[in-house]
Amino acid sequence: MSYFEHREPPKREDRLKACIAYGGTICGIAGRTKGCCLNDGERAFAQGSICLLLPALAIMNTFPDSVVLLHGAIGCGSCAHSQNANVRSGSKQRSGQVRDAVWLSTALNETDVINGGEAKLEEAIREADRRYRPAVILVVASCVPGIIGDDVDGVAERVQPLVSARVLPVHCEGFKTKIWATAYDAVYHAVGRRLLEEPEEYLPVIPDELDDLREDFIRSRTVNLMNVSSMGRVDELELTRLLRALELEVNIFPVFADPEEMYRITQAALSVSTCPTHDDYLLKHLEEKYGIPYIIGHMPIGIENTGAWLRDVASFFHREEQAEKLISQEERELESALEEFKPVFAGKKVFINAGEFRALATAKLLAELGFEVAAIRSFHHDEFAEPEYEKLTALGADFQFNVANAQPFEEANLLQRTEPDLFLGHWCGNATAAKLGIPTHVIYNTGLSYIGYQGAYEIARRLYRQLKNPAFNKNISKYLRLPYKRSWYQSDPYKYIKARGGA
Ligand code: SF4
Repeated sequence: MSYFEHREPPKREDRLKACIAYGGTICGIAGRTKGCCLNDGERAFAQGSICLLLPALAIMNTFPDSVVLLHGAIGCGSCAHSQNANVRSGSKQRSGQVRDAVWLSTALNETDVINGGEAKLEEAIREADRRYRPAVILVVASCVPGIIGDDVDGVAERVQPLVSARVLPVHCEGFKTKIWATAYDAVYHAVGRRLLEEPEEYLPVIPDELDDLREDFIRSRTVNLMNVSSMGRVDELELTRLLRALELEVNIFPVFADPEEMYRITQAALSVSTCPTHDDYLLKHLEEKYGIPYIIGHMPIGIENTGAWLRDVASFFHREEQAEKLISQEERELESALEEFKPVFAGKKVFINAGEFRALATAKLLAELGFEVAAIRSFHHDEFAEPEYEKLTALGADFQFNVANAQPFEEANLLQRTEPDLFLGHWCGNATAAKLGIPTHVIYNTGLSYIGYQGAYEIARRLYRQLKNPAFNKNISKYLRLPYKRSWYQSDPYKYIKARGGA
């Protein structure tokens, strides 16, 4: 039975045996594969975590003509404020119109916890429909309804005949999983169950043979390019440019996709993941239900990875020769453009902290640019990253590898030990390194370029500027300090991980 037959997707701890605790080296984890961590990823001490609502809202808030209705405590939606700049700029870049995310909350309180929140939810859905007339209302279940037992799916079914929007329950109860990447499955689950059927009004009454032929031709060369918000518009355009050079059409999904048009994803020859951490749940569904094959392998960050990603797509369409010409021309131009930066990068130590695939792919690129990788931390670990470990161990050097859902105390200890010249992390995750005076660069920002050949050049250009003038963080370190005692820096950074290597 398909997962999509169920109301909720499974959590990744169960589906992929994903985990959040490992401390050791890259060669250590590459050798152990999935046995590296405990499934529940326990630490004897933990400083914090990441709730799956954050990435889930980052995707859903981009959908035009929709309302995101959070059913839970008011604070659950707080991250949506910081995401709105991306919704506004992303909408402008794609449609020419600036649009704000529309998100509401049932703002459950203590009385609702005792009496139940279903009546409030029903009223909120009807009010959202009346006020905004959206195509879709995404009803997001957070921790409180999960704990008190509100039947969110039942309310959605009950209200559906009374509203014009389609009502989609999305299960994001934060307490159910420690793997924030479960968010991608939660959103894909809701979309896959309710938004992929072709609306009947779009079906031609009398099929026109010529139109059919034209449609078949377009479909035979259309690629679904998956983006759950790990690429900004500039990166989407870079991959579109490369795929168009192979004479392919591109359908980007799901960020900023109009809910009424989402069914178009079922009309492609192939789906291609841009980050294997994100997409397997939906890609398998598309293959099973609609017969669309998929490629999930490389992330096109870095020179070799971009080439491998392109070769995979080209080989599906039997365009290997075209791809080789394209890759060699792009690599030639890129190599000569990178010449001026490489002497500054040579031998400099870099520390990387991000989602697993992005961290590993970026490390590969940095090694290609001449950096020495000192350490990588990834938010979680699952099976899709295993080929990436092999790419990094093939570089011939071993280095620290830590799987941690945040846990800045482990990071501070590792930073003191490894003394990197440069740190790459998410914008909310650069503070520890900055306070130690280490130059930092954001590993992901939808306004910047990271992907493909253009991304490789732009990352190098930005890092060059950063290393040329590291004064900002050095000054920060003069006035700020981290809260840890000297004894912590002298301790084993992984001493609180219960399963040291899953022995
Ligand atoms: S952990 Fe629960 S309560 Fe906290 S933000 Fe996530 S869904 Fe809301």
